[in-house]
Amino acid sequence: MKINLLDKFQGCLLGVAIGDTLGHPFEGKLRSQIYSYFDDFNDFIQKNKSIFSTYTDDTQLTLHTAEALIKGNGFNIEYFIREYINWLDDPPIGPGYGCISSIRKLKYGVRWKQAASNSGGNGTTMRISPIALFYCKDPKGLKSSALKSSLITHSHPAASAGAIIIASAIAYLIDKNPEVGFSINKFFDVIIASISNSQDEVWEEFIKILNKLKSNLNMPIESGLIKFSQAGVKSPYFIEQYLGQAFVHPYTISTVICSIFIFLKRITSFKECILELATAGGDSDTVGAIGGSLAGAYFGLQNIPPDLIKLVKKNKQILKLGEELYNKFKFKFLNE
Ligand SMILES: [Mg+2]
Repeated sequence: MKINLLDKFQGCLLGVAIGDTLGHPFEGKLRSQIYSYFDDFNDFIQKNKSIFSTYTDDTQLTLHTAEALIKGNGFNIEYFIREYINWLDDPPIGPGYGCISSIRKLKYGVRWKQAASNSGGNGTTMRISPIALFYCKDPKGLKSSALKSSLITHSHPAASAGAIIIASAIAYLIDKNPEVGFSINKFFDVIIASISNSQDEVWEEFIKILNKLKSNLNMPIESGLIKFSQAGVKSPYFIEQYLGQAFVHPYTISTVICSIFIFLKRITSFKECILELATAGGDSDTVGAIGGSLAGAYFGLQNIPPDLIKLVKKNKQILKLGEELYNKFKFKFLNE
């Protein structure tokens, strides 16, 4: 089967938007609390569509990232800064501190190196998918653009590592056929290699936790989330009251690890995967968005149920943006 990359581009962007939309009402709630609302999440969605009326900052920033790549014909920091400043007029929905504080500074003319916050939050990973798509055939361009795009708002090494890992994971998954599957070992090799040999303590720690995840993939979802919900988080950022519970921390390492974990555990279908991601607990919308980018890139648009597409605000605009990004990619990398 020949992989249809346009279908994968659109699937990936919609995956972000669907996961974000479904997870939004559950942001800041324990997984156990979320599951007390329903017996069947799919049924709950169909009966309560009005609760799932919008996506949040994750999708907004992803769309602005796609716009920046399209306008700049690839990574160009000026276009990125301009698009992120434009986001302030959307206006932002449920933004994280690292993003909003640094982008406000950019708006008032502070240079990006001074504007970037030292946050290790997941704000740069949640917006990375368009970079992964555009540079899916150019590993060097992918890594350097993922890194630079992250540094604009977050100077902390966990944030850039997460962005590179998820970008590399998407690039790996995009040419895999979901009817055939892929090698989990190879998947881990690729994402671990993407941040190896850095001499950075936090990147090395990230690799250790990825290896720990790999050896714990047989754990049930609930126990795995309890184990990894606050992975890598240091004092004083622990959320003491949620230690030992499934409540995904917004620190990049914890969010990325839990998103990959759920994605790999629920790889049976796009729908099963996204429903599980969006109900992770804690930063549910971002786990939905990040895991959704992986599921969307792997399964592609053709395997996303129409009812989930319809649920997403501005879905036609997202599909169109996916097509424009694909056309730019095709022209630059496939010489078509
Ligand atoms: Mg959000």
